[in-house]
Amino acid sequence: MTNNISHCILIHYDEIAIKLGNRNWFEKQLVINIKNQIKGLQFSNIKKFSARIFINNINLKKANQYISKLSNVMGISSVHLMNSIPSDIKEIKNCCLDLLESEANNFQTFKIFTKRQNKSFPHTSPELNAMVGELICNKLGKKVKLKKPDIELRIEIIEDTAFIGHQSKKGFGGLPIGCGEEALSLISSGIDSPAASFKMLKRGVQLSYIHFHSAPATGQESIDNVKKIIDELSKFQSSKRLFLVPFLDVQKAIMNKAPNKYWVILFRRAMIKLSCMIAKKINAKALVTGENVGQVASQTLSNINAISEVADMPILRPLVGYNKKEIINLATDIGTYNISILPYEDCCGFFVPKHPETKAKLNLIKDCEGNIEIDFESIASNIINKGSI
Ligand code: ATP
Ligand code: MG
Repeated sequence: MTNNISHCILIHYDEIAIKLGNRNWFEKQLVINIKNQIKGLQFSNIKKFSARIFINNINLKKANQYISKLSNVMGISSVHLMNSIPSDIKEIKNCCLDLLESEANNFQTFKIFTKRQNKSFPHTSPELNAMVGELICNKLGKKVKLKKPDIELRIEIIEDTAFIGHQSKKGFGGLPIGCGEEALSLISSGIDSPAASFKMLKRGVQLSYIHFHSAPATGQESIDNVKKIIDELSKFQSSKRLFLVPFLDVQKAIMNKAPNKYWVILFRRAMIKLSCMIAKKINAKALVTGENVGQVASQTLSNINAISEVADMPILRPLVGYNKKEIINLATDIGTYNISILPYEDCCGFFVPKHPETKAKLNLIKDCEGNIEIDFESIASNIINKGSI
């Protein structure tokens, strides 16, 4: 049994850090986000070292909590629970054996993976893999399997310390939130916009959310579901700023004056216009939507063009080239899919005619819009005055 063991979490982060040429800033933000994420869990300190981050002296009983919380921090590529011991070959072998012996009932096949930062350590990574592998085969009667083993034991030799462990989780990579600027995400209760929001969070962009609803013509469900979705997304970004926009009066004004085939496009233009106004007031630099070419009638290129024309800031559409199945897989991975499939009435879907325009002509849309009176300024001021939730 090794005596000098302490426990830590070892974190690897994305290569992008280095490519950005702004590594210090990236790492500082990452450490801030890590601290936020493990608030309430015990540790003695967080150290950056050798392109890794270490969270020292953790509470081993809560290891799973550290791992699952940290794997949601954007910028992190993997999280490892590690024993840390002096990098002495005897101690390393003992520690590996102890660790795998305690798991002996849970695996038949294994793999040893070694990374050696300290090149003066007397054994190369392949040598260490072979030595430890042989020991485990002989002492525990287990088999080496390089592809999909039941258990992977990781050894990292850094300066005069060896880190050894087998509990790991992949992170999402990307950039730490706060490295990018802020954007305003148009969030419906559907499957796509939560996935689109996630994609931007992953790029380090801080998000606020805006949701348009047609209550009381539609039920409360879309609002409740959006709140649940934002709660779920808060595991990636703690801020949950949401602007709720009562949209029914705007829709009525449009429906009173415009042919029904244009309704959806005009609703969307109104949404985008209001969203740009709110975005500017909160200093957000772009909008985010879950739009996707060709998925529904409002998402033909002509209609996307007609909708975008009203924007005076970029509209980011991170899902634009995704297939539906890919979006569903992503939404499932991030935990929003099951909320998005809960029943709700969509504010636009509720009023959609049978044959909406699929190739909007901008001049006709604008002519039509000219006859509709909507006081966007006062709606936007009301939203801001009411504040976010
Ligand atoms: P989603 O699954 O996100 O609802 P969708 O494929 O159903 O997307 P649409 O309903 O046409 O497509 O919406 C396109 C995008 O417009 C949404 O992804 C979202 O960003 C935005 N959007 C739609 N409805 C609302 C709403 N009620 N409030 C805020 N944004 C909305
Ligand atoms: Mg929708």
